[in-house]
Parts: sequence; structure tokens; C-alpha cells
Amino acid sequence: MSKELIYGLTFEQLAAYLMKFGHKKYRALQVWDWLYRKKATQFSEMADVHIDCIELLTDHFVINSLREYERQESEDGTVKFLLKLRDEHLIETVLMRHKFGLSVCVTTQVGCNMGCSFCASGLLIKNRDLFAGEIVEQIMAVQEYLKRSNQQELISHVVVMGIGEPFDNFSNVVNAIRIIKDHKGLAIPARHITVSTSGLADRIYQFADENLQVNLAISLHAPTNELRSQIMKINRSFSIQSIMEALDYYRQKTKRRVTLEYILLKDLNDKREHALQIAELIGEKKQLINVNLIPYNPVEEHPQYQRSEHEVMLAFYDTLKKQGINCSIRLEHGADIDAACGQLRSKHSHCRS
Ligand code: SF4
Repeated sequence: MSKELIYGLTFEQLAAYLMKFGHKKYRALQVWDWLYRKKATQFSEMADVHIDCIELLTDHFVINSLREYERQESEDGTVKFLLKLRDEHLIETVLMRHKFGLSVCVTTQVGCNMGCSFCASGLLIKNRDLFAGEIVEQIMAVQEYLKRSNQQELISHVVVMGIGEPFDNFSNVVNAIRIIKDHKGLAIPARHITVSTSGLADRIYQFADENLQVNLAISLHAPTNELRSQIMKINRSFSIQSIMEALDYYRQKTKRRVTLEYILLKDLNDKREHALQIAELIGEKKQLINVNLIPYNPVEEHPQYQRSEHEVMLAFYDTLKKQGINCSIRLEHGADIDAACGQLRSKHSHCRS
């Protein structure tokens, strides 16, 4: 664990590091180009970089740290990777194919402490935060898989929605986003990056002030504090009202729309009255907020939660639409593989319950 992951350095950090050892700033541009454009996996491949610089980097950094432990490929092209970290912990990363391009869903923590009661990932108590480099490397690992399997496409979108609460690992997530969207490297545009939080309202303000201009999604999942506190314990610390105020700030600061994510749970939060309550919550901000309805993937650890009937989901959608709410039902990816987030890793790990 002694050598640092090079993917964890922003361009400015890499340039400062090289300059500290007497190298010119343009060396950082060369190295960055080899890492993110030419996808070098060894420093020795960096043919036009001075040998002294190669030696410095080789002595202090590694490029790759993740190993593929298991891979599941779905008929719809979704690929779920179980990746092993240097300290042997396992994380999940998912490649999804959309009409608009390829997106990768990255994990930010080993386990999660938020304890959302419907979530397979939440059964795995947090062991540690991922480093920024480990977050970035998940994208590089998927890109490498595409190259290996003779697929030429580049990853165009990133969703920070895998295992973990991104704002509980704030600085690493912010640094990873700066690296991912840097136009000199991976160059994934900010508007193609979405961060999803369970609703740490205080961090939403802090995130807005980072001025990253990425999309923000909130896991709402219930329209009232009473119901939300039942299924998401984070709501006992940050009420729906405090989240909505924080979202106002995020929108004003970034001018980006925000998304409310809503998993439909049979007979629990999927009634017409719940849809009307969401519309009321959004109120006059209809043009600024999207609602994304998500079909639930049942997990055996939470038998009390079931997926809403298809007709019920459609009726919920219709009610929201009639109230003028921008609304969509999320397409499912990888229905024929371990579909729920965290399931693949749970099979190989000890759950806390
Ligand atoms: S839904 Fe997200 S925040 Fe909640 S327990 Fe699962 S991984 Fe953690």
C-alpha cells in the first residue's frame, strides 16, 4: 500500500509534484496524456517522457490497483464488475449501455453506513472510504475491459450511484470528479456526470460551493418525513424540508436541474396520495426538478419490500404528469444478472445482520 495511485492526483497536483522534483510543467501534460488518452498501464510505456521523470513516478506511484474478481454480463449489454482493491476488499462497478452512450456507475465506499432499509449495499457496514484514485480507476478499468473485448467506444457518462454515500466521502469524491471532467484527460463533461446522495443536506451546500456543475440526484423515496424516516434513517438527521432548501441553493448556484429519485415499493409509497404529495412538495419548481421513478429490485434480505405492480407504477407516473411534473420511469439494466446494487458484492461478503 505504500505507493500512491497516480489516478488520484488532479492535474494541478501532478504538475506541482513533478515541479517539486525539478521537472517542467509540460511533463505533467505528457504523463496525463499517456494516462487518460493513450491509456498506458505502465510508466515505462510513456515513450516521450524523460527517463528521470519515469523513474520518479515508478518509485512513488502505481497506475493500476484494481483486479477483476468476477464479471457478469447481461443480455442487454450491462456488465457488472466485482473488483478487488489492494487491501482485498471488494467493490462493484457497472457498465450500462444507453442510446446516448456508455455510462459507468462507480462505488465510493467499501460498504455504507446510511442503512437505508431496502438496500442490499446498506447491509455491508462501511469499512472504509475509497481514495479518489480508486474511484477514477473504476472508469479506467471498464474502459480497459472495452478495449480488451475489441469495443472501441469511449465511456461518455459517469453516475456516482454505486455502493456508498458519496457525501460521506466528500473530498475524495470531489477530487475524483475534478479528474474525470478535466478536459486534458478523460474529459467527461460535467453535464454527463451525476452524483446521487441519500440527502446529507449540509453537504449539498458544500458541494454547490465546489462549483463542479454536475447533475445532482436525491434519493427521496417517500414524500413525508414520517414515511421517509421509516425507510431511510438519514431522514432523522435531515428532513425533507431541509433537503428541498439545500436543493434550492444548489440550483441557484449551479443553474442545473436536480432529480428526485423515487423507488416504488409495493403498498408502501406507491399510492396516488403519495404522488400528489410529491407534486405538492415540488410546488412551483416544476421546471427545475425531475422525478425519476425506479422499479424496486427485491433482495432476499429485505422480504418486507416488494416491487410495485407495473400498472401501479404507470398510474403513479400518470398522476405526476397530470400535475405537470417532469417525470420518467427508469429503464432497467441487467435484469438477468444480480440486478440490485450491492447484490454481487453481498454474495462474497459478510453482512452485518
Ligand atoms: S441506498 Fe445508497 S446511501 Fe442508502 S444504504 Fe444503500 S448505498 Fe447506502
